Amino acid sequence: MCHQLFAVRLAVHDHCSVPYWPVASGRHMPRARVREIHQCGRTGFVQQQSADHMPTTSQSSAILQPDSHPVDACSVRDLTGQSIIAVHAHPDDEAIWTGGLLAQLARRGADVTVVTCTLGEQGEVISDPLQGLVADHADQLGGYRHTELQQSLAALQVRGCYLGGIGTYRDSGMVGDAANSHPRAFIHSGEQAVEDLVAIIDRLRPSLLVTYGPDGGYGHPDHIRAHEITHAAVAQLLASSAHTGDDSLHTYAQSIRILWAVTWQPALETGSRAIAAAPDGWRIPQPEEIACVADADIAIALDEADCAAKIAAMKAHATQLWIADGTTAVTRPAPAYATVTDFSTVCGVFALSNLITQPLLRREYYQLGAGPALSHSGSTPLSPASGQPPHLVDSADLFLR
Ligand SMILES: [Zn+2]
Repeated sequence: MCHQLFAVRLAVHDHCSVPYWPVASGRHMPRARVREIHQCGRTGFVQQQSADHMPTTSQSSAILQPDSHPVDACSVRDLTGQSIIAVHAHPDDEAIWTGGLLAQLARRGADVTVVTCTLGEQGEVISDPLQGLVADHADQLGGYRHTELQQSLAALQVRGCYLGGIGTYRDSGMVGDAANSHPRAFIHSGEQAVEDLVAIIDRLRPSLLVTYGPDGGYGHPDHIRAHEITHAAVAQLLASSAHTGDDSLHTYAQSIRILWAVTWQPALETGSRAIAAAPDGWRIPQPEEIACVADADIAIALDEADCAAKIAAMKAHATQLWIADGTTAVTRPAPAYATVTDFSTVCGVFALSNLITQPLLRREYYQLGAGPALSHSGSTPLSPASGQPPHLVDSADLFLR
């Protein structure tokens, strides 16, 4: 299991007042890269090419090792000094929705912080061994997912904190769930949650915020709330700077870009077509069963290191996610294999607890939610248009320069 290789010591500090970083042997953990282990040349995932070419579990594991060849295309543009905050509802969202971008930005030197709003207490648990942790039984899932989140952040090489401190807000569950009425449910977080996020933004001064669109990506109330507080926090910074006449703060608040992570329908369809066969026990989704959008403004290409980091981060959430690469975990005692026919758009196959087969795409897609228009290399403005493919941009172009 990948997380066994991340033998790290984490110092946890709340409110992002003191950032914590994964540390190994008294220094920053060496960046990981995946050694190519399969003749298909793709890493982080192993295809089942034929019945007589079944990879063994040990062969199929992505092997993470210190990067002795640090030169890659992204290294030429240094993002040191740039800051980004990703605001996510639950542990695992940082990996699923934005893991590739966050890993890439961190690798390029940016200061990347994940703000997680709840512990995901209402989540389901994939497979049987840890079912008893769920909210309706032992109600211990939140604490377990905290540990998973730390491993995910280590895999992405980013830092993180909880909105308001660990345990302040609770997973609200889906619409209609009894957890909606819990006194700590995130959907009832009110102005305090906005204040909590403003405090973090004011301290870290990111130029980029990443969260979900107004529908939360797929309608989860906590995702919608994460969207709301992100926009409300920037609005509050603008309002308070206008009220106090703080021109510096006003200029800063106006410069903040908010990106919404989205699933772009054409890419989802292309990726889904690349999966020729789902693992045993998994199923192919019905049309429109996976939430997606018709239009995206930009696409970020993930290289092998980004994909490997994203997959490792997703694997860290072992109670929530299953990667069909033949590896096993305490929650996934049986390996899963998928058959992929085209790795040009897909670097893996995964499922949530519903065991619906989904492609892990080699690009992540975003919409510009607020802030300055995007441009190529700080010059040519991008002009996203409905029905047009998203612009493929360098992640450095997400920052004003
Ligand atoms: Zn979520």
